Amino acid sequence: MAGVECVAAVDVGGTTMKGGLVARDGTILYTERRPTPRAEGADRVIAAISAFVSDLCRPRAGTRPAAVGLAVPGLVTDTHAVFSAAFGWRDVPVSAFADVDLPVALGHDVRAAGEAELVYGEGGEDVLFLPIGTGIAGAVVLSGSLYGGTGGWAGQIGHIPVRPDGLPCGCGQRGCLAAYASAGAIAARCGETSAEDVLRRVREGDDAAGAVWGEAVDTLGLALATYTLLLDPALIVIGGGLSLAGDALLDPVRARLRERLAFRPAPGLRASRLGGQAGLLGAGLLGWRA
Ligand SMILES: [Zn+2]
Repeated sequence: MAGVECVAAVDVGGTTMKGGLVARDGTILYTERRPTPRAEGADRVIAAISAFVSDLCRPRAGTRPAAVGLAVPGLVTDTHAVFSAAFGWRDVPVSAFADVDLPVALGHDVRAAGEAELVYGEGGEDVLFLPIGTGIAGAVVLSGSLYGGTGGWAGQIGHIPVRPDGLPCGCGQRGCLAAYASAGAIAARCGETSAEDVLRRVREGDDAAGAVWGEAVDTLGLALATYTLLLDPALIVIGGGLSLAGDALLDPVRARLRERLAFRPAPGLRASRLGGQAGLLGAGLLGWRA
């Protein structure tokens, strides 16, 4: 990769941070994953991000990145990570995440991933990109543009109530979609560490795992029907770790979505073609903009 122009990119997730060096055409030249030390508190997470950025910015094979792109969850502006329920931080300046002498751009993880889908994936004018991992959030594309809403809160589909007075959610509400259908919730409800383990038990005929998986599928179908009726998308693209379940997830969710829509056709539903790299590529796009 000597001589190739690149940026350093870090996508901070609830359990894993994905870092890498990304060329302008979206080629990932180097990639590395590190655990997010969420249980150790906000300060430790910020320090771990800063160390990751510094390591990625060290010259290697004659190449040094030209800028840094950083994608984090929660409410984010160009200069501050304003709030994250997952990490418990408030008003963290971009300089706390990246102590390097390079331009640094900060952005929202899901919107960054949505932008990567638009640039490198297969987009469209009216699309919902829905990464499902530790949590669930959506990147809403309306008439070809990402829609952020008045305060940057648009697309919080994971916190739409799907079961009135249902399970408590980490956000403080009850009955949220994320409490049933996020990879994190699916695993936790079955006492497993990953949704993959739950799906394996479903395939083995385990009733308890089957019930949890079934409720995830039902609630996703319900939330996507609500979204469809409100915004009439052409396509819904599921990303994140749960999308790796493929047809075991998509086929039943597609069926539920169709059943919920009595008088109109269902939009297309498919897995992201970026194979879980949308967040990293989105952070790379932020870096190129810096
Ligand atoms: Zn919630």
